[in-house]
Order: sequence, then C-alpha cells, then structure tokens
Amino acid sequence: MITVAEHLGRILETVQPLAPLQLGLMDAHGCVLTEDVVAPDPLPAFDNSSMDGYAVRAADVAGASESAPVVLPVTGDIAAGPASPLRVQPGVCVRIMTGAMMPAGADAVVPVEWTDGGISQVTITRAPAVGAHVRLVGEDVAAGETVLPDGTHLGAVQIGLAAAVGRSRVLVRPRPRVVVVSTGSELTEAGAQLAPGRIYDSNSLALTAAAVEAGAIAYRVGIVPDDPRQLAATLEDQLVRADVLVTSGGVSVGAYDVVKEVLSRLGTVSFDRVAMQPGMPQGFGTIGPDSTPVFGLPGNPVSALVSFEAFVRPALRKMLGATPIERPQVRAVATKALTSPPGKRSFLRVLLEVKKGAYVVTPVSGPGSHLLAGLSRANALAVVPEDVEKVPAGEPVDVLVLERRGR
Ligand code: AMP
Ligand code: MG
Repeated sequence: MITVAEHLGRILETVQPLAPLQLGLMDAHGCVLTEDVVAPDPLPAFDNSSMDGYAVRAADVAGASESAPVVLPVTGDIAAGPASPLRVQPGVCVRIMTGAMMPAGADAVVPVEWTDGGISQVTITRAPAVGAHVRLVGEDVAAGETVLPDGTHLGAVQIGLAAAVGRSRVLVRPRPRVVVVSTGSELTEAGAQLAPGRIYDSNSLALTAAAVEAGAIAYRVGIVPDDPRQLAATLEDQLVRADVLVTSGGVSVGAYDVVKEVLSRLGTVSFDRVAMQPGMPQGFGTIGPDSTPVFGLPGNPVSALVSFEAFVRPALRKMLGATPIERPQVRAVATKALTSPPGKRSFLRVLLEVKKGAYVVTPVSGPGSHLLAGLSRANALAVVPEDVEKVPAGEPVDVLVLERRGR
C-alpha cells in the first residue's frame, strides 16, 4: 500500500502545465495568462463626461443656486462616439452625454438634474467644482501599465479588462482536454430501459462534470463493456483529442477488471492500493505516443468522485497553471464523532456550516462507497489522517471545501 501523498506526488511529477497558446478572449476565460497584458493607451483614453449634462467652465457658474440660478446659452451637443470639434468659450456651455469627449475649454460638467434641461439655453441651479463629473484620461490605467500580470487567472472581470485595453487574444495555458470513459458490462445509459441486474452509468457523467468544474474541456465517451479489445480500441481512438484520460471501474481484483489488463499493456500505467477510504484501488500512468496521463479510477461512484478530488483535480489544476491547485481547506469542529480505519486517510462526507462564528462539520452519510446520495448532501470532505482512528465530537478536523453548484 502507498499513501495518498505518495500517489499524488507521483501524479504531480508526471503531469506538467500545458504549453501556452494564443486564444481569443472567450476561449481564454478561466485560463491562466502566460504573458503580461500591457495597456498601449491610457484608460480612459480621453477626458470624458461621467453624466448627462452640460460641459461648462466652472468659473462661469460659480455661485449658481436655486435662488440665484445662472443662465447660459447652449452652443452645441456632444454625444458619446465622435471626437468633439466644439470649444466652450467663456460664458457659454455645450450639452454633453455620458462617455462623450470633453470639449476644449470646459473644465466641469453640470448634471442635467441640476438644470432645467434647456436646449438652446440652460438654467443652472447648482455650481460644480472644477473637474466635477469629468473622468480624466489615464485615471484608471496609464499608458504602458501592466494591467494583468503573467499568472493571472482570467475571470469575467479580467476578460473585460483585457478587452478594454484593446486585446482580442491573449497568451494562456489552454484548458486540458479530458476524455472520460466508464467501463462495466452492467452499465446502461440513463434514460434507457434498465434490465434486471444492470445499473445506470453515473460515473461518466459525474466525472465529466467534475472535470468541467475543475476548468477542463471534458468529453464523455460513455460506456465501454468489460471487453479488453473494445476498451483498448476506444482508448487508442480517444488519444488524439485527450490531454488526460479518465476511466472508471475495472481496477480492482475481480475477474472482469479489464482496465487493469488493458492499461498495463498500453503504457506505463501501474495499479496501486492507496491507503485511503473511499477509493483504495488506483491506476495511474501514461499511454500512447504523447505519454498521455491516464487515471484508472475505481468504479464505485463515491470512490470515483473522491479519487477525482484527491488526484485528478489537482493534476488538471497543475496543467492549467492555476494556483493553488488544492481546494480551500479549513479546520472545523466535528459536531459528532468521526471514525476512520487504521492506517488509511478517510475522506468523510460532511456538511460544513458556520455556527456562532465557527466552522462545524456534521457527517451526512455513512462510509459506503456506493452511497452517492450521501455525497450529494455533503458540501465538504473531512480529512481524517492515517494515524487517527477517531475524532471525538467537539474536536477539530481538516476539511476540504467543495463548491456547491446549482443549489
Ligand atoms: P468496479 O470498480 O468495476 O469493480 O465497480 C465497482 C462498483 O461500482 C460496482 O458495483 C459497479 O457496478 C459500480 N460501477 C462501476 N462503474 C460505474 C458507473 N460508471 N456508474 C455507476 N456505478 C458504477
Ligand atoms: Mg466493473
């Protein structure tokens, strides 16, 4: 038996960050930059109005009030878009819209709410300070400034900023492409009629979804029966589009555990007993001409998903170049005693909550690795180390925080 840390260590030595690519911004969403994005021009690119109103010389309207309004002729209109040829001479003003370029001569904007909204002349009842309602050139970003440094994870805001400084493409590590295959002659596609003794394939769907949630592009191949030739042919076919292969089932010591047989033959995959619960049998190695990493996960649905959390997700995060590669971890107090087999690291399905300002965890499932509904009630996994068999109620435990989607 090897430890979880040893198995993960071997995986992380093998998988490497993917080579950078120029991608369009929408394809780069969720990826990690491998260049500095530098603004060629300032942001804002020119002085402009932050309000709909009137561009004025502040000195012309100084002292304007409800009781002593100032009336100015309006000599033109400036919309957002065109560069303004207008110049505001002393004693006049120009109507201006939000985002429109400030005309020469003006140094403040009177919002329309401070006026009667006049077209040819306007009555102003409140005086703006110099610079009021004007967004200054370079106020957000200076020309030549690095707005997104190498290593930035591109979320929605960062994608927006890259576009705002004029970039349509950026250099990023692409999302790893993950191909997911379920093995098992008992498996039936959900939606089809279930014959006695057969079960629906849930793993290929869950693992594909988990890969997407980890930041990958995932392809679900679906079900392959326990037939070595079919499995070998499927894996060989899929290699062209895979940065990572994930299989479920067929890795234990049963008579029809074909994944073991096929993967051992195709590459450097080895099968180990990892000291963990759930998820003990684990296959990992590389196959094919490009030494594509392949994970042979156990078939029990909770084992498959916990193995994904423990081994596949960190590997995908490393390939993406994302940091940290681990889920967030907190210490939480167990509300009920937690137990774990000796010598194994347990990943227990728990509900993590904040009570009276402190994290607490409560088990929501028994330890059976077929209890998928129990996993769906959990929002976290309590991690009980190898040398601990019991965490008494009231004692702290390390907890991996899982994301909850669609709830
Ligand atoms: P195996 O690892 O192939 O021995 O499978 C272990 C257990 O997980 C068996 O009860 C299988 O029926 C079940 N199982 C295997 N693959 C899947 C799958 N894709 N979806 C749901 N259950 C599965
Ligand atoms: Mg099987």
